[in-house]
Amino acid sequence: MSGSLVVTIDGPAGTGKSSVSRGLASALGARYLDTGAMYRIVTLAALRAGTDLADESAIGEAAASAVIGVDSDPDEDRAYLDSEDVSAEIRGDEVTRAVSAVSAVPAVRARLVELQRELASSGERMVVEGRDIGTVVLPKADVKIFLTASAEERARRRNAQNVANGLPDDYSVVLADVQRRDHLDSTRAVSPLRAAEDALVVDTSDMDQTQVVAHLLDLVTQHAGVKR
Ligand code: C5P
Repeated sequence: MSGSLVVTIDGPAGTGKSSVSRGLASALGARYLDTGAMYRIVTLAALRAGTDLADESAIGEAAASAVIGVDSDPDEDRAYLDSEDVSAEIRGDEVTRAVSAVSAVPAVRARLVELQRELASSGERMVVEGRDIGTVVLPKADVKIFLTASAEERARRRNAQNVANGLPDDYSVVLADVQRRDHLDSTRAVSPLRAAEDALVVDTSDMDQTQVVAHLLDLVTQHAGVKR
C-alpha cells in the first residue's frame, strides 16, 4: 500500500481511541502518531525538573528544553525523553494526574503542535490521534474522525480496567471523574475538545474494538478513495 493519506482521530478518554487508532494504522499500513504521549513526555520532563505545576512559564521552559522522541510504528510505538525510553513511565499515575495542567499551557501546545505538524508532513500514510488534531493541528487532513461514547459507558470501561489493575471497584466515583474531565476538556480556553465541523462522528458505546476498526476502515475507504 502506498500514497499519502492523513487520518485524524480525536475524542475524549475512554472511547477506545488509542487501541482503535493503532488497529486502523496497522490495517492501512500507516504510521501512527499518539499526540497524548507527547503531552505526557513534556509532563514527565516538568516533573523531573521539579517544576511548580501552577507556574506556566516554568512549565513552558521545561517543555522547550525537553528532547521529545516518538516512534510511529503502530505495533511498537515508543516514547523518549532526552533519548531515554520512558514509554512505561509516562503511563504512571504521577504523569496522568499532572498532564491536564501541563497540556493547558499555551507555550506547551504551541511547541507540540508545531512538532506534530512536522511529523505528519512526511507524505506517508499516517493516523494521528489526540484531542485537537482535526480542529487545530491538521485541519486539512484527508479524513477526520471523532470518537464518542456515553459517559456511562466510558466510566464502565475505565472502572473495569481499574478492577483488572487491582484498584477499587467504584463505578460512581469513576463516572463523576469522567464527567468532571469532560467538562474541563470541553470548556478550556485553548483548544477545547470538540469535533471538527467536517469530522465523521462515531459513537463506540455499542461496538467492540474490532467492530470500530472495521467501521473506520470502511469510512476511510469511502471518504478518501483509499485502496486497501
Ligand atoms: O490520550 P492521553 O490520555 O494519553 O492524553 C493525555 C492528556 O494529554 C489528555 O488528558 C489531554 O489533557 C492531553 N492532550 C491534549 N491534546 C492532545 C492529546 C492529548 O491536550 N492532542
